[in-house]
Amino acid sequence: MQDNNHRSSINKKDGDSRRVMADQEVAGDLKCLLEDSPIAVFTCNKAGDLTYFNEAAIKLWGVDPTPKQQPWDNSWKMYYTTGERMNLAGSPMARVINESRLINGEEITIETQEHVFKRVLVYARPLYDEQHNPIGTHSSLVDISDKILEESKQAILAAIVESSDDAIISKNLNGIIVSWNAGAERIFGYSEKEIVGKSITILIPSSRLQEEELILSRIRAGKKVDHFETIRVAKSGKQIPISITVSPVKDNYGNIVGASKIARDISEQIEAQRAIKQNSQNLELLNSIGKVILENLDVKSLLQQVTDATTKITGAAFGAFFYNTTDLNGEPFTLYTLSGAARSSFDGFNLPAKTNIFKQTFSDSKVIRLDDVTKDPDYWQFGPQFGMPKAHLKIVSYLAVPIVSTAGQVIGALIFGHPSVGVFKAEHEDIIGSIAAQAAIALENSKLFEEVKALSSKKDEFIALASHELKTPLTTIKGFLQIIAKKNQDTVGKLFVDKSLYQVEKLSALISDLLDVSKIEAGKLQFHTEAVDLVRLLKDVMETFPYTNKSHEIIFDDPNEQSVVLADKQRIEQVVINLLTNAIKYSPKANKVFVSLRNEGEFATVRVKDEGIGLKEEHLSKIFNRFYRADGVGNVSGLGIGLFLTKEIIDRHNGTILVNSDYGKGSEFLFSLPLQKSN
Ligand code: ADP
Repeated sequence: MQDNNHRSSINKKDGDSRRVMADQEVAGDLKCLLEDSPIAVFTCNKAGDLTYFNEAAIKLWGVDPTPKQQPWDNSWKMYYTTGERMNLAGSPMARVINESRLINGEEITIETQEHVFKRVLVYARPLYDEQHNPIGTHSSLVDISDKILEESKQAILAAIVESSDDAIISKNLNGIIVSWNAGAERIFGYSEKEIVGKSITILIPSSRLQEEELILSRIRAGKKVDHFETIRVAKSGKQIPISITVSPVKDNYGNIVGASKIARDISEQIEAQRAIKQNSQNLELLNSIGKVILENLDVKSLLQQVTDATTKITGAAFGAFFYNTTDLNGEPFTLYTLSGAARSSFDGFNLPAKTNIFKQTFSDSKVIRLDDVTKDPDYWQFGPQFGMPKAHLKIVSYLAVPIVSTAGQVIGALIFGHPSVGVFKAEHEDIIGSIAAQAAIALENSKLFEEVKALSSKKDEFIALASHELKTPLTTIKGFLQIIAKKNQDTVGKLFVDKSLYQVEKLSALISDLLDVSKIEAGKLQFHTEAVDLVRLLKDVMETFPYTNKSHEIIFDDPNEQSVVLADKQRIEQVVINLLTNAIKYSPKANKVFVSLRNEGEFATVRVKDEGIGLKEEHLSKIFNRFYRADGVGNVSGLGIGLFLTKEIIDRHNGTILVNSDYGKGSEFLFSLPLQKSN
């Protein structure tokens, strides 16, 4: 249809002004042929005016010059293939007529009025009249722009393939290598010449040959293999980790004829991943060792954990901590902790301690790192034998890092060994150096702690002894005062004696508390448990209380049911007295204290509530500590041991004690004890 229309439109144009010569010179059929030709054909007269042009010429020029009868050279510019502008006289069309010769396929570039550049082949010949006078030219232009574009694309692609760092390989469906770029040569070591035509399996380790079958079967099915990480073998035999992408290659008809394969050497990437993993493991270790160092005051376990962690971080076969003190055998250094090896590997081998390598760390606090200790002139070179005794651990890589106190003394050193060459790196020195610095502080702290512990146990001993010694004369004083109280009827004298007895009572309670504290510290606080009814116990305590405390009324919310617990009656009385005493002591402006008891589930809970000074939030968790007193207690006297004892007693009864407080309004102390189970 299209063709017919076209033809008819051409026919319609017959007799148009643009066909000045055509009608006489081109026979009917040939004229049609020219019109239909995909090649631009045109003729000019001697003056350069267009005398004929076909549809393909219009298409090529991008303009139809019909209405204007333009000279042919006006519609477009011409260039040499070098890009240089071509003037009219130099154009193939002008040269044809001037030089009276044929031009057969000269390549030029034309630029249309729309500034489209086209590469064309020019075929031109002069036209003569019957007397052989030149009357014009006949030119055919073959547009080869697409071909040129395709060729330059190919050239660019080829350049990309050649310059790529990746191996770009193509193979046919039988796995035979068809092409091989420079990247492939760099990675695998084979030149293009020696490998093209060979099977791709030459690159595949025998244990992975089945991979190729899988890859080829995917390719045959038209599927891609994307970023497949595997191992291939270079010409040298070296195994290389690579990531490959394989895509099917199709011919012009869409048939799969082979595969293109891009392989990237990922050795560095794998090494970087390994390093990152190692670093993050090291960081975790560092973090945990930092915590251990901060929290641990036990020297042995501290040093063992430091030795274990640093051995792991350095990748050492073994690591050890030596104290800079003479050991039991009189050797200058004492092996204290060991990781990665049995102690027997060191027993009986005091040789290392005698070498200069070892001494430099302990005497001059030097870090020593050797890739191969056996090559060092200070290696164990003394008799009877040269080198290490056979049974000793094999040490080639060696690293020693001193642990230096803040005063500059070498406390000891961490020593690492490995049977291979060059295991320890500079970064290991840095990491171990910083751990050693922390360990030094921790060791000093733990030494201080040991001293404080020793002092503290001396103090506990003193408190125990002093309170015992104080108690005896106090009991005697109390006895005498009671006799005087009975005999003396004089009111003033009786008042003084009563006051003295009250103070002696207080003093003796204080001394008892102190004695209890020292018993708790020594783990000697004894309990004698029996079934105790808490209601009875509370009532008994409260009955005796008003005689000594007249300032407050104690209001008891009687539960009217029993609460039987297994407890040391006296100790629980002591707890209630402590809480009541505090409630009264710390509510000087109030005149009531509230006590309640409730059975709640498996527990009996006693609450002692006051309307006193209360406690600030920040003190709540600390008031149960030994000797702790909150600020703002004014001139209320105390030692800060009552609640410590109270908590210890409740804890030892498997109970709990809590405090709720509203600062300035009052406090509530509540303790719960497990109810005795009825059978
Ligand atoms: P002490 O009363 O001898 O100081 P405690 O161990 O009995 O010792 O109490 C510790 C601290 O807890 C007290 O110094 C006080 O600051 C606070 N405290 C105890 N009971 C109360 C209470 N009912 N109200 C306010 N503060 C209290």
